[in-house]
Amino acid sequence: MKKVKIAGSHTLIVSCGHCKTSLLSYQKVGKGRLLRLYLERINFSDTPLQQELICPNCGELIALLATTKAKSFYKMKRGKYNIKRIND
Ligand SMILES: [Zn+2]
Repeated sequence: MKKVKIAGSHTLIVSCGHCKTSLLSYQKVGKGRLLRLYLERINFSDTPLQQELICPNCGELIALLATTKAKSFYKMKRGKYNIKRIND
């Protein structure tokens, strides 16, 4: 399945800050830190997208699901993840 690229976005790989396992691929829009991970912008995930985003390898809690009226997103835990930008 090919997703439409969001204008002005770039792809990030989010990995566990503890064991470095890759967790998911995400379309980040704009600059700035990754504090919220909107579900609609996740390209694919190697870990189940549940109420808690947990590293499948080491069990580290990476983020917690939050929901506003409009959107669902993961609230990222500081220092619990790494991001790597992919040029595309
Ligand atoms: Zn881990």
